[in-house]
Amino acid sequence: MIVAMREIASEEQIRQVSECLASMGFDVHRSAGTRQTLLGVVGATKDPDVRDIQILPGVGEVHSINSHYKLAAKAFRPEGTIIELPNGVSIGGDGVFVMAGPCSVESREQIFSVAEEVARAGARCLRGGAFKPRTSPYSFQGLGETGLKLLRQAADAFDLLAVSEVMQISQIEMMLPYVDILQVGSRNMQNFDLLRALGQVRKPVLLKRGIAATVEELLLAAEYLMVGSNYEVILCERGIRTFETATRNTMDISAIPIVKILSHLPIVADPSHGTGSRDKVIPMARAAIAAGADGLLVEVHNCPDQALSDGPQSLYPEQFEKLMDELRVVAPAVGRLA
Ligand code: PEP
Ligand code: MN
Repeated sequence: MIVAMREIASEEQIRQVSECLASMGFDVHRSAGTRQTLLGVVGATKDPDVRDIQILPGVGEVHSINSHYKLAAKAFRPEGTIIELPNGVSIGGDGVFVMAGPCSVESREQIFSVAEEVARAGARCLRGGAFKPRTSPYSFQGLGETGLKLLRQAADAFDLLAVSEVMQISQIEMMLPYVDILQVGSRNMQNFDLLRALGQVRKPVLLKRGIAATVEELLLAAEYLMVGSNYEVILCERGIRTFETATRNTMDISAIPIVKILSHLPIVADPSHGTGSRDKVIPMARAAIAAGADGLLVEVHNCPDQALSDGPQSLYPEQFEKLMDELRVVAPAVGRLA
């Protein structure tokens, strides 16, 4: 249920309504809209009777939400969520937020070289995995904390933010000083214990859609983060598994406008994992932005042919530069800042 307080509701009235709902056993999540305060009412029990809430002083409207996700639902923040990141960067507003870098951090030379290239082309955030969820136990598993240190140093050297994947609850504390955004990979989208733990963190989470997850399941995974009061969730469409074998995954571009209708959360697209081959990354990146994505997550490598993971889908730096040039044309055509 969403309780929309009247525009003129006093702080005291908002507090009283929140306390009344809490006394009924609900958790109340407050959202300060541009005009009014909205209260997201969640809990395991059935919603209270709308009429009991409607008559409380200061209450404007009360809406029942039919979906299982409530805090991730559009009604909780109809104007959309803008996440403010360090260095004056934001996501969810008019701009296009681009995160780029190698699949895995491999060495100092590699991550510094890629950081320099992606920063020059206009990316604002450096990606690089230090804990890698590999299908085979014999594949490169990542450099761990050493990789995170290198990622942070390279990001700082080129005024970039840093994003990296967290695979387990036990890694969270250690990772916090190194990253600006914690990535939850596809394989962990429904690791509910990990999501609950990240709900306690006050840093944005990049939540990737599971390989076989519906949009509803993605939004319910976001709800796990938000119910812990971490509202800084960035969704990511990264392709789903279908019967098609021409691509590594089937990039579900339609998920982008669907999420935009159902949720207030920003959504980015990952055309690298979404297609699996570099010649398809640029067209799908353009398509994602044209479809309304708030940003991109793109794999770029200084020497893709020697990459320790995901080389075939990693762009050469000059291809990434071309992609960024093209975005400067596509973004304004769909009402975004270049
Ligand atoms: C990644 O971004 O490096 C990654 C492993 O992606 P996904 O979880 O989408 O497979
Ligand atoms: Mn990868």
